[in-house]
Amino acid sequence: MQSDIKDSVNNIKNIYSVVLPVYNEEQCLQEVINRIMKVLKQLGEPFEIVCIDDGSSDNTWPMLLQMSRVEPSLRGIKFLRNFGHQLAVYAGIKYCTGEYIAILDADGQDPPEILPQLFQKCREGYDVVYAVRKKRKENLLKRAGYKLFYRLYRFLVPFDVPLDSGDFAVFNKNVASFIQSLNEKTPVIRGLRSWYGGRQCGIEYARPKRVSGKSKYNLGKLLLLAINASISFSKKPLRIISLFGINISLFSFCGGIILLMMKLTVGIHLTGWTSLALLIMFFGGLILLVLGIIGEYIGDIYDEVKNRPAFLVKETIGWPHEPR
Ligand code: UDP
Ligand code: MG
Repeated sequence: MQSDIKDSVNNIKNIYSVVLPVYNEEQCLQEVINRIMKVLKQLGEPFEIVCIDDGSSDNTWPMLLQMSRVEPSLRGIKFLRNFGHQLAVYAGIKYCTGEYIAILDADGQDPPEILPQLFQKCREGYDVVYAVRKKRKENLLKRAGYKLFYRLYRFLVPFDVPLDSGDFAVFNKNVASFIQSLNEKTPVIRGLRSWYGGRQCGIEYARPKRVSGKSKYNLGKLLLLAINASISFSKKPLRIISLFGINISLFSFCGGIILLMMKLTVGIHLTGWTSLALLIMFFGGLILLVLGIIGEYIGDIYDEVKNRPAFLVKETIGWPHEPR
């Protein structure tokens, strides 16, 4: 179905594509799309806005249907159910046809007003121009969590990643073609974009509050994104485990020799079940943690080898020809 949609729009040469993942955003959608339209129309070249409705249960899809009737550049894809933000963006990239592609949240937190600046840089020859969050209007815990994640992520992955930059970015057709060629089940777009390499630069912006409504990311979902992003691009956690294991073995071997010597020479031998119980609990916990990390990698392999589709499409609107 994906290739059908792409075939059907191949005769249109869009310069700009804006990909918008949307999940229960009826309160923000109209305003954000109006702002994007205004900005893109000022650029004076053909464009498309590709909205991916990630299984919304509110009025989001009927609103998109209505808007697409008066706005021919608006395209919509409705998922059969909620597949998650990253897969919605991934699908949008797979379907879009522009020369320069922008990824934006649908809640106004990625201000469309800076798009001309990002597109301009990309047109100057940068493969990726990402937006860097200078100020965030989220609570302290979330801000601290994000800061910690980006720094840890940079330490883990074997390629350069920008700090404090989410999915808000513009990239050229080469980067889009690279992502379109993939068949990943748990893609992490900001990681893939960095993995690609090429010429990249960042533009700073102050991240505003969402126009309306609540964040769809709770702590659990954020943690899952952080784990997926790390597992997907880094084998460092496995190496750290091995190093840890070697060090603990060495430490306990030396400790054993010292205790044996103490017993043989001065006749001191240590007793006490408290220290023993604590040690068993400590190493029990450590072993479970290590198994959990290895399990994450196995889970990822499991998802990939089953090779189910990453997402399912229920309906599409606004494409120049009906998909076959
Ligand atoms: N989103 C999505 N599917 C989801 C959760 C979120 O498509 O399961 C969309 C959401 O509508 C928004 C973007 O992804 O356009 C970012 O979500 P949100 O604003 O809730 O995340 P936050 O900015 O708080 O990290
Ligand atoms: Mg948001």
